[in-house]
Amino acid sequence: MNTTNHFPLRHAEKIAFVTGGSRGIGAAIVRRLASEGATVAFTYQRSADEAQSLVQEIAAAGGKALALQADAADANALTGAIGKVAAQFGRLDILVNNAGVLLMGAIDDFSLADFDQTVAVNVRAVFVAIKAAVPHMSEGGRIINIGSTNAHRMPFAGAAAYAMSKSALSGLTQGLSRDLGPRGITINNVEPGPVATDMNPPTGDFAAVMHGLMALPRHGSGEEVAGMVAYLASSEAAFVTGAGLKIDGGFAA
Ligand code: NDP
Repeated sequence: MNTTNHFPLRHAEKIAFVTGGSRGIGAAIVRRLASEGATVAFTYQRSADEAQSLVQEIAAAGGKALALQADAADANALTGAIGKVAAQFGRLDILVNNAGVLLMGAIDDFSLADFDQTVAVNVRAVFVAIKAAVPHMSEGGRIINIGSTNAHRMPFAGAAAYAMSKSALSGLTQGLSRDLGPRGITINNVEPGPVATDMNPPTGDFAAVMHGLMALPRHGSGEEVAGMVAYLASSEAAFVTGAGLKIDGGFAA
């Protein structure tokens, strides 16, 4: 029996750029877009080994990915990485702003340095990446930010700066949809609830408390978030822009 897949892959020929693709949700997004035919460039900060393994895993499965070291807090490094990929492939079709940090501490203890790092990675880098990517995008371009359901519900102390940073992405996404709409480029904000990654382990006392707040009492998976991203990156989502899409097991319901 001929088992060759004759259906076109949804993201065939697309060039995607994902920030923070070495681990967690970002790695799931890289895998998903590559499995649907995209050539996926992704950044990492420290996890060089994980990044190279992911590139090799995707190549072994017949896909195309490349890893670039670029600290999201370093505007020159991030802009340079995006410019390099755009020059290599001639354009960009999909930008996923996934890199993020969760630095916690109550107001008395939370340092200004941690506040600045939160804003630099979770907000400023998103603006920097979009500014760098948009000149290389044409009609049909897709920008997807990874926000958080914590923009809508922050039921714990010690994460105010994180919640603020993710709320900022809501405003940025809505505002930029107006800038980019006339160019046929969409921008959306995916807002996950608890997802099992290094940032948010699915077991332990804290996980149990979170599950108690949810309609579906479990952590989500990176693959579930990646499915929503892949949809938003597709032509099927051409009429979706400026939107915040929760994928949070009812955390904010
Ligand atoms: P992880 O901590 O598991 O992974 C973070 C990823 O971002 C890594 O690839 C890391 O690279 C990269 N990264 C972090 N800082 C930088 C930086 N300065 N420059 C470049 N890359 C960087 O996080 P998650 O996968 O859980 O989170 C991904 C996104 O999803 C974040 O924006 C987060 O806020 C958001 N989110 C996560 C939720 C969760 O429950 N997990 C819920 C809601 C939103 P490296 O490996 O090199 O360190």
